[in-house]
Amino acid sequence: MTIRQFIYRALYLQTPGWHITRLLRKDKSCKKCGATESLHLHHVNYPFFGLWYKLFFLSLVVWAFDERGMWFFVALMVVPDLVSRMKTLCARCHRKEHQ
Ligand SMILES: [Zn+2]
Ligand SMILES: [Zn+2]
Repeated sequence: MTIRQFIYRALYLQTPGWHITRLLRKDKSCKKCGATESLHLHHVNYPFFGLWYKLFFLSLVVWAFDERGMWFFVALMVVPDLVSRMKTLCARCHRKEHQ
């Protein structure tokens, strides 16, 4: 696992911003098989995450020197990712998609 993947899973996917994105973007059924249970929101591409990832480190650096960096950090945690291409997949189809 790369650092980027680690940050994505351990941090980004736990932020309130991602939870808001899920509430707003997740459909009621899997786009591949139509299942309606254990649905995941899969990123087709990550333009916003690429930016988020850079801003995340930048916010920590700013925060180290100036406490206003904390607000920058907080903003990154709560702003939802609404621009990335995503699709709703059930757990099984999602696993296949990542193979
Ligand atoms: Zn499915
Ligand atoms: Zn995925």
